Amino acid sequence: MSGPREAAWLRIDVVTLFPELFDVPLRTSVIGRALERGIVDVTLHDLREHGLGRHRSVDDYPYGGGAGMIMRPEPLHAAIEPLRQAGAQVVLLDPAGERLTDPLARDLASSGRLALVCGRYEGIDERVRSLVDREVSIGDYVLTGGELPALVLIDAVVRLVPGVIEAESHESDSFADGLLEGPQYTRPETFMGLAVPPVLLSGHHGEVARWRRREALRRTLRRRPDLLVDADLTDDDRSEIARLMAPEEGDSDS
Ligand code: SAM
Repeated sequence: MSGPREAAWLRIDVVTLFPELFDVPLRTSVIGRALERGIVDVTLHDLREHGLGRHRSVDDYPYGGGAGMIMRPEPLHAAIEPLRQAGAQVVLLDPAGERLTDPLARDLASSGRLALVCGRYEGIDERVRSLVDREVSIGDYVLTGGELPALVLIDAVVRLVPGVIEAESHESDSFADGLLEGPQYTRPETFMGLAVPPVLLSGHHGEVARWRRREALRRTLRRRPDLLVDADLTDDDRSEIARLMAPEEGDSDS
C-alpha cells in the first residue's frame, strides 16, 4: 500500500487484526489510484504482532462476566504509541463515537497523518479510549469489527484530498454546501417515457445552474429538511424555499 511516503499528502496507518480485509478496496478505482500515485499512503499494522504470550493473544474475558471477549489494552497501546509519537491523530472506530459527516471527513482529510484503530469482538477495554484523540462512528448500528468502518472513513476522506478527484466534482456533491445534490441525467433523452428536463439541453449555463440550485433546495426540503438549518443559504434560496413550501407547489417527492 506504500507509495513515495515522504511526498504523500495524507498518511493513514491502520491498526487491525485483519489486514487482508483492506486488500481489494485499497487497490481499486479512485482510492487505488490515489495510493498508486502516492498522493495518499496507507500502512497496515497487524495488531497480532503485539499479541501477548506464545499465542499472541489480544483479547480476554470481561471482568464481571458477560458474553464475548474484550480487546486487552497492552497490545493496542504497543501498536498505537509509535504512531502517536510519529505525529498521527489517533482515531478509534467505535459505535459510541461522533458521527462521520462531510465536515468531519474534510477535517480529517487535512490532518496530514491519521492512525485508525479497529476494534473487534465485544469491543475494547475502556482504558484504550484514553490512548486516542477521537472516536468516530459510521452510524447507529453495530458491525463485527472496525475494518469496514475504517474503509468507509478512508474512502470518504481520501476522495477529498487535493488531486484525487476533481475538486469541482466533490464540491457539488451532497452535503458539501449543506444541501443534498439535485437530480442528474445522462443519455437517452427519453427513458421509459420519462424525459430529461429541457433546461439541461438548452445550453444556457446560467439557467442550468439556477435550475440545479432550485432542485437541490427542493430535494433537501422534501427529504432532509434538518439540513437546511445549518446550510449556507442566500436570500434567493430562502425565497425559493418559501415558494416551495407554498401549498400549490404540491408534494412532488424529488
Ligand atoms: N460492544 C460494542 C458496543 O456495543 O458498542 C460493539 C463492538 S463491535 C461488535 C466490534 C468493533 O466494531 C468495535 O470495537 C468498533 O471498532 C467496530 N464497530 C462496530 N460498529 C461500528 C460503528 N457503527 N462505527 C464504528 N465502528 C464500529
